[in-house]
Amino acid sequence: MTTFLSRPEPQTESVGRDAYELMRRLFPLCRSLTGDGVLATFDVLEELIPLTRTNIPSGTQVFDWIVPDAWNIRDAYVAAADGTRVVDFRRSPLHVVSYSEPVHSTLSLEQLRERLHTLPDQPDVVPYRTSYYSRTWGFCLSHRELLALEPGEYEVLIDSTLEPGNLCYGELCLEGQEPDAGDVLISTYVCHPSLANDNLSGIAVTAMLARELSSRRLRHTYRFLFAPGTIGPLTWLYQNRDGLDRVRHGLAVSCIGDDGNLTYKRSRRENAEIDLAMETVLRDSAAPHRVLPWEPWGGDERQFCSPGFDLPVGTLMRTPHGEFDGYHTSADSLDRIRPESLAGAVATCLEVVDILDTNRRFINLSPWGEPQLGRRGLYRSAGGAVSSPDEERAFLWVLNLSDGGASLLDIARRSGLPYATIRTAAERLRDAGLLSEQ
Ligand code: ZN
Repeated sequence: MTTFLSRPEPQTESVGRDAYELMRRLFPLCRSLTGDGVLATFDVLEELIPLTRTNIPSGTQVFDWIVPDAWNIRDAYVAAADGTRVVDFRRSPLHVVSYSEPVHSTLSLEQLRERLHTLPDQPDVVPYRTSYYSRTWGFCLSHRELLALEPGEYEVLIDSTLEPGNLCYGELCLEGQEPDAGDVLISTYVCHPSLANDNLSGIAVTAMLARELSSRRLRHTYRFLFAPGTIGPLTWLYQNRDGLDRVRHGLAVSCIGDDGNLTYKRSRRENAEIDLAMETVLRDSAAPHRVLPWEPWGGDERQFCSPGFDLPVGTLMRTPHGEFDGYHTSADSLDRIRPESLAGAVATCLEVVDILDTNRRFINLSPWGEPQLGRRGLYRSAGGAVSSPDEERAFLWVLNLSDGGASLLDIARRSGLPYATIRTAAERLRDAGLLSEQ
């Protein structure tokens, strides 16, 4: 068996620090489906990893969707009669409904109110609103700020453009050593402005994982995709529609920087190798975690796992979107991000990569009864060779199940032993001439 990865030992602390710093830099940018905020985000990512950008013109039909016009915004405000900006895009891009068309007008408070979005039951936070596919404009503010507005006339300005341009996604492809092994797709979305857990944490974890893997010898080809939500994966799928059988495993990464436990949502296939690998890594970690069944609700996995593609793409999160307080509001700020949560997510992904790249099937070359392990130095009785009960059980499990049908991952699952223990046992049995790689 070729050894592709040693056990991952990322510099956890520096990975967490770098991921957090990346989020801090990206936080203020006004990302959306298209526009300069996405491109500026790619510029920052390119300081860490090289990206190939693909531009798809507005109006391009992708399956049942059409790539929208590009949106850019320079400034926006609601100003009181004395010129004071009572709502100001420069304070946060959340204050403008994403994809707002340009406007410059004077409105009474009554007229203005129809354009203002607040959350009366969370009066201190600014909601995040979008209107990608129907033309409108609006502002978002806290309910408390709305209640403080005096009757009178207000100047509203949205200095935006909404015109034919491009949708842009960024990719990094790390070529594997075995072309026949196929591709592993790691995907995250890049369309949210000034929200931290959803979705900057996914960008940071994916970028750190890509950086970490850049220097390693890999068996599979790893493709990292940074694309705006929904229309981005659809466009990528459309562009790659003739080569999708190369995608053997996939993972969507989102909402992964808070202090919640890791949560894995299975692919539509439910028992794809990525599902089994992730569940085994989480099991072996002994940390509290959740595994959720597939459901066609959530993030970009909805497109990858639509029935026409049915790609084996799972989703790794901490607290899933919609479950954490402050979801899609200004309360989803950097305050709730933990560097160690980001680092832990990267480490978990590296363990999954380790399984995907080393999982193999072996054949027991001595299947008629148990081979004598002691005289091969593989058992306690042999001259005091030290091996733990787990290691001894692993030898027996690997020998017993290596009939060409079960992979190392299958054996780890059936035996209940850690994957790393099973893998080490298989390597030692192979070195002792008792196993051959299938
Ligand atoms: Zn979101």
